[in-house]
Amino acid sequence: MRYGMMIELDRCVGCQACVSACKERWDTGPGAARDWVMEIEHGKRGADLGLTFYPGLCNHCDDHPCTEGCPTEATYINERGIVVVDPDVCIGCGNCIPLCPYGARHADARKGIVEKCNFCAPYVARGEQPACVATCLGECRHFGDLDDPESAVSRKIRELGAQPLETAEIRVGPQVYYAPAKQRKVVLDAGVVKTHPATTMLTRAWGHTRLAARYGVPALAVLTGLGGLLANLIQRRAAARGGQGPRGSDSAGEPPAGSGESATLPRHRLGMRFLHWFNLASWAVLLLSGTALMIAPGFALFGVEFPRWLSGLVGGQASLIKLHVVWGLLWAAVIVPLFLYFKRGGIEALREVRITRDDMRWIARKPLVMLGLSRRPLPPQDKYNAGQKLFALSALTGTTVIIGTGLVMTFHLGPPEVIRAAILAHKLAVLLALAGLAVHITMAAIIAEERPALRSMVNGEVDLEHAEHHSRKWVDEVNEINRRNTPTAEGGQ
Ligand code: SF4
Ligand code: SF4
Ligand code: SF4
Repeated sequence: MRYGMMIELDRCVGCQACVSACKERWDTGPGAARDWVMEIEHGKRGADLGLTFYPGLCNHCDDHPCTEGCPTEATYINERGIVVVDPDVCIGCGNCIPLCPYGARHADARKGIVEKCNFCAPYVARGEQPACVATCLGECRHFGDLDDPESAVSRKIRELGAQPLETAEIRVGPQVYYAPAKQRKVVLDAGVVKTHPATTMLTRAWGHTRLAARYGVPALAVLTGLGGLLANLIQRRAAARGGQGPRGSDSAGEPPAGSGESATLPRHRLGMRFLHWFNLASWAVLLLSGTALMIAPGFALFGVEFPRWLSGLVGGQASLIKLHVVWGLLWAAVIVPLFLYFKRGGIEALREVRITRDDMRWIARKPLVMLGLSRRPLPPQDKYNAGQKLFALSALTGTTVIIGTGLVMTFHLGPPEVIRAAILAHKLAVLLALAGLAVHITMAAIIAEERPALRSMVNGEVDLEHAEHHSRKWVDEVNEINRRNTPTAEGGQ
């Protein structure tokens, strides 16, 4: 079955009854319409002067180029050949609007999605005619199954020699036919079929970014992993030879204070530890579901098989987008207030990640030390070393942009151009955070030297020896605070 329509242009009287019926049935807002009637004046004063009415609508094209730029597969062709937009899956990005050569799509700001004619699919499924056909005063619209050569519409197309509106450049298999040839030419000459751009700004930008995400992030993770394994090996060899090895060189050169084997320092409060692991779980859910939402071939990050598999697992794209949005909102609702509470409105976090001159020197020297190419001592570090600070900065920036743009997309805060830009910024921020995350996780999981830091995220305490080697300035700061708070024997102060 393949639904289609045939329109007799010489019978249309431009009454707009079809437009009005469609508007009423589908509740299109002011200025928006799923179908329209364009008035085309043609010819010169005299015998050939005339007026042709062109009733336009979605042509339900075989090639449906509008689906190419849809990141969520909200637009698809159904089993009856009708190109539909699933309102539960459409995120209103507007990426499809310029891809339609017939100008058949519009953004509905109130509904927050893009809409177009769907041949009144639910009504047709129960045996009714589309609203425009049922109300056409000129009786110029014919609708039915194009696959059935004996259907009324197929016979009418044959009888009147109707053809779709195609040009030499635009051949996308439209399923709306127009006759007679003379008026059809008038409509085509009026330029109603637009030579559309093959891609939009979003698709082009994502095309470049996709390569970075697809190859850059995994390559970075592999390189970091290999670097970590090599550093472990070098460190073990140095230890076997009885040398200090790179581990000892993370301090300002002083040997660790005789602190005893079990001495520890409190490092992470329970709330911060919860925040860390909740954040990690949320990143896993959001990255997997977000990646799977980019399902169109032009958008998919790692092929279309994984998105199809995951969306099938949760019951389809509509469920997947709901999961992503609900978890994203939950994530934002948990981490933002807790972060602001534990980090004193963010001021403490900014102080902790401030890059100092020592940090710059540490960044330049650390890779050489890890690979055994330098034995010079590293500059002393704060509570977080320069590498952790860089990761924290990328995570803070990425998280802020991801939450902000996620809210714009979820609640359609702005016109399609803003939503389109938000989608691109959302993905770029994810890419930035992903690169930081790849390095962070790889370092924590592979480098033996970082194990005490990882353990501190579980039990909240860090070995004093490790802290003295890696966070000398912070240990001094803690000691100074403890000294000030410890009552002296004489004065109780
Ligand atoms: Fe898509 Fe436009 Fe063709 Fe309709 S007319 S199927 S919206 S390209
Ligand atoms: Fe797909 Fe975006 Fe168009 Fe909705 S607005 S149908 S999500 S391209
Ligand atoms: Fe033309 Fe029929 Fe629409 Fe009237 S209702 S404008 S005659 S297509």
